[in-house]
Formats: sequence, structure tokens, C-alpha cells
Amino acid sequence: TVKNGSNPNYVFYNDSIRKGLWEEKGIESKMADALKNHEFVVYYQPKVNPESGRAAGAEALVRWRMKDGTVIPPDKFIPVFEQKFMIGQLDRYVYEEVCRLQRQLMEEGLEAVPVSVNVSRLQFYDQDFISKYVEIRKKYDVPADLLEVEFTESIVFDNEELLLKTVQELKQAGFSCAIDDFGKGYSSLSLLKTLSVDVLKIDSFFFDNGDDEERDMEVVHGIIDLVHKFQIRTVAEGIENMKQVEYLKQMGCDYIQGYVFYRPMPEDEYAELLRKEQMQKEGSGYADRDKC
Ligand code: C2E
Ligand code: MG
Ligand code: MG
Ligand code: MG
Repeated sequence: TVKNGSNPNYVFYNDSIRKGLWEEKGIESKMADALKNHEFVVYYQPKVNPESGRAAGAEALVRWRMKDGTVIPPDKFIPVFEQKFMIGQLDRYVYEEVCRLQRQLMEEGLEAVPVSVNVSRLQFYDQDFISKYVEIRKKYDVPADLLEVEFTESIVFDNEELLLKTVQELKQAGFSCAIDDFGKGYSSLSLLKTLSVDVLKIDSFFFDNGDDEERDMEVVHGIIDLVHKFQIRTVAEGIENMKQVEYLKQMGCDYIQGYVFYRPMPEDEYAELLRKEQMQKEGSGYADRDKC
């Protein structure tokens, strides 16, 4: 059954299955087995440059595809992985999948675009988090500028010092850093003063077609102008219609991520999209040359 109005990529399990799954003892070993058996699959959602209409990057989003074909969305299992302190393993698995794909695309001669991975705030407490990521990147020989790390500002409430230190180290290791879900919850503008991130992802909360769209867009405009002063690029998340795209383009929003362009898609489809876009680019290049 597909839940109304949600991503059709998900085949939805019903509540009784979920209850059974989460309440059962031994969920930890189930999760560990699922990691070992590659039941987690990584989907890719392009971030589109509104000027060119092309994929300028992508976000890696994990799904749990169980043996029986049931696909569980991340919101349902990420919190469980956090609770059991297994989120580091899962995040690293996703990240390694991304490195593997980036290497594969490079081998194919495709121009890979940066892919971002989500990193749980709990990983910031792992002393070895960054060195593990660097090691994996080196194993696949992927340049750091093809990889980006997304995290939410919620970390700041635990430990602002830790956040600043970790971001600094990530930057030193060559990763670009993005604040995810900005504007949802207690977004702290003072954070922008101290934190040297590369990208700010503006939460879909502003684009939910609420009762005052004009006002939402004014707020978004203000955020974009403000962070551009700090050379921070902006991604608008959860964009579902062309009217919003037009607004955002006028405001100079750098990238748009939303169903209006693409839903998260399996790896093969994503690679195919890059091939298609790059063939078109080469194609037009030849056409130009013919004219000379
Ligand atoms: P997020 O990082 O903010 O990712 C964006 C979410 O918005 C994704 O949901 C994406 O599918 C959805 N989305 C994108 N465009 C649209 C749109 O136009 N309309 C609507 N309604 N939704 C849109 P998804 O894939 O279900 O992921 C949910 C959250 O789960 C993510 O939010 C992220 O916080 C977390 N997550 C996903 N993968 C990972 C992972 O590998 N590690 C960790 N720690 N968290 C992850
Ligand atoms: Mg994200
Ligand atoms: Mg987000
Ligand atoms: Mg979100």
C-alpha cells in the first residue's frame, strides 16, 4: 500500500508490522544483520541549478529495503539507530556507498557532481568520526570536494564548542559542510556569525503552501541575502511547484531540491540522469563546432 500523498518510492508497511519490528527484543541484531546483508539502499536526489536546470549535486538518502521487499523510510529507523548507538555504522555505510558510486562514475569518465551525506549529531561525539571518513574517501580515491556533510543545527544545543571544532576539522579535511533543515525549530542566526559552513539548506517548512506564502518568501529572501554576504550557498528543500522555483530563481537561490524536479531515485537512475545531461552538453558543444 502506498501512503497518500507521500513518496511513491516507498512501499508502506502497515502499523502492525512496524510495531512488531520495533518492539521486538533483538532489534539491534536485526539492524546489524541488515547492515551486513546490504538491506540499506542509498537513493539520490539531485540538487538542481535553477539557471541551467541541471543536477549540480545530489543528496544521499537511505532506505531500508527488507528481504520481503518492504521499504521503510529513514524517519522510521534513524531514531532507532540513534537510540541504540548504531547510527555511526549506518551513516558510514551510506557514506561508503556514496564514495563507491563517485569512484564508479569517475571511472566511467563522467563528471561526478558533489554528493552530500547526512550525519547524525551523535557522530560528533565520536572522536574518530572524521578520520574514519577520510580513510574511506582515500580507499575509493575520491576527492574531498565531491563529498559534502549535512548536519542539523540541533547539535548546537548540546555543545556549541564541539560543533565549531568538528566543523573546523571537517573543513580542514576538505569536506564541505551544510546546515540542514535551517529555519525549522530554533534556528540560531548567531550561529552564522561563528560557524564557517559552505551551504545552508532552507527547510521545506517555508515552502509548505501555508496560508501566507508571500510572507514565507520574504523570510526566505532575507535568509538568502544574509548568508550570501558570508559566501554561503543556499539550497531550498522540498520545492514542489514551478511558482516557487521562479521566486527562488529571482532571489538568487543557488540550488533547488524537491519533487518539482526529481524525487530521490535509485543509484542506476541517478547515474543515467548524469549520463543523459552530460551527453546533451557534449552534443550542443559539437553543434557549436559544426557551425565554425
Ligand atoms: P533531510 O536530510 O532533510 O532530507 C530531505 C527529505 O525531504 C528527504 O526525505 C526527501 O525525500 C524529502 N523531500 C525532498 N524533496 C521533497 C519535496 O518536494 N516534497 C516532500 N514532501 N519531501 C521532499 P527522506 O528521504 O524520507 O529522509 C528523511 C530524513 O531522514 C532526512 O531529512 C534525514 O534527516 C534523514 N536521513 C536520510 N538518510 C539519512 C542517513 O543516511 N543518515 C542520517 N543520519 N539521516 C538520514
Ligand atoms: Mg539532509
Ligand atoms: Mg533537510
Ligand atoms: Mg528534514
